[in-house]
Amino acid sequence: MSKSKLPAFSVRDFFQRFPDDEACLTHIMEVRFGMKHVCRKCGVESTFHRMTERRAFACASCGDHLYPTAGTVFEDTRTPLQLWFYAIYLFVTTRHGVSGKELQRQLGVTYKTAWRMGMKIRELIGGVDGFEMLAGHVELDEAYVGGRRKGKRGRGAEGKTVVMGMKERGGKVRTEVIPNVKKDTLRGVVLRNVETGATVSTDELMSYGLLEGDGYTHGRVKHSDKEWAIYDYRTDETYSTNHVESFWKLFKASVRSTHIHVSSKYMDRYLNEFAFRSNHRDRQNAMFDLIVSRV
Ligand SMILES: [Zn+2]
Repeated sequence: MSKSKLPAFSVRDFFQRFPDDEACLTHIMEVRFGMKHVCRKCGVESTFHRMTERRAFACASCGDHLYPTAGTVFEDTRTPLQLWFYAIYLFVTTRHGVSGKELQRQLGVTYKTAWRMGMKIRELIGGVDGFEMLAGHVELDEAYVGGRRKGKRGRGAEGKTVVMGMKERGGKVRTEVIPNVKKDTLRGVVLRNVETGATVSTDELMSYGLLEGDGYTHGRVKHSDKEWAIYDYRTDETYSTNHVESFWKLFKASVRSTHIHVSSKYMDRYLNEFAFRSNHRDRQNAMFDLIVSRV
């Protein structure tokens, strides 16, 4: 079964859409307010005209000045809008994400500026996907990420952040940083994120019976016994955590290849960034528009 891929968002497409700061400003106006909308000042459904000399548009009816970048990441920046847009473009089109160094190189700004831009963009990405309970068949698997030391593999590695990954089969992936892997914590993650009635696949970390009485169908694979999938003929379900594990593999490989070190302080943002890219894969244009509409 081959999924037909949508055309990628090429560099050429980017510069055609956003040849200069002017085009970017107009785009922000369009996605935030619209070139025609009910004026907040005079209440008339009015058209707005670009004002020369200012990064503003004026109401055709009352002349009120509207600054489309007000209150956005672009408001107090000396970095040209087109560079911001291009940075967002890189986040969308680069499979493994963009490091501060890479942004610095590509945009020709200082490392400090590049790093800040990257963090701001991750913040925007974090606000894109609205919260919705996961449903259907959801795979759960925890991962230990970050930390400078290699530590021992798997559970209990020191200096690492524990994150629960949740993947709805055929749907979204979500992550949540958790303080530990105690029973109450694990059960809480499921209750917060997975719809009652859903089927849940985990490995043996989540003990049998942990979700009993909560309305889930829970299947476990015993990785310690080299068991990767179990077919249950009664429910016609195959329990496995293969999909969520693929997400973790990609995440870890990406962090290794792109970022030298991700601090636990910002782990949430990196996780959101990767989940976002994974959830909107093959839809680069849509991804870009989603982020820009969040400014
Ligand atoms: Zn007006």
